[in-house]
Amino acid sequence: MDRGERLVSEKTLCIIKPDAVANNFVDQINEMIQSNGLLILKSKKTDISPEIARQFYAEHSEKPFFSDLVDFITSGPAVVQILEGDSCITNYRNLMGATNPKEAEEGTIRKKFAESISKNAVHGSDSPESAVREIEIMSALF
Ligand code: UDP
Ligand code: MG
Repeated sequence: MDRGERLVSEKTLCIIKPDAVANNFVDQINEMIQSNGLLILKSKKTDISPEIARQFYAEHSEKPFFSDLVDFITSGPAVVQILEGDSCITNYRNLMGATNPKEAEEGTIRKKFAESISKNAVHGSDSPESAVREIEIMSALF
């Protein structure tokens, strides 16, 4: 590869949400993640506390769905993961698919495993700034 064209290895925060854990989709989702060239650096099955959930989703605190979102993400075990790879923030968002599974493309995790716009199987950081912030919030797990 030419000088100046080296891809930057990034980390991103992935959550396999309680709906997908309850439906036993964890292994299939992680198979999709790994076969897309993303490394699962860390992985922890855990119950997310309401305090952490409210902090994690603070950007949505004024939205009408906020309390339902906190209730959902704390409703049962989730799998919190740190992924690593070249351009993995964007790559993993593309692999996740649209927030609303009705709008998600074929071959995406949400198209395959999401039940609804709220119970949508997975979370992924949406920017480098979000990734740093979200990994920091979840760092106590690892
Ligand atoms: N969400 C919801 N209703 C909505 C929009 C979002 O319940 O109308 C939930 C859903 O679980 C989503 C999360 O809130 O994944 C965060 O929303 P965001 O817009 O950040 O979507 P994402 O980044 O997860 O695609
Ligand atoms: Mg988001």
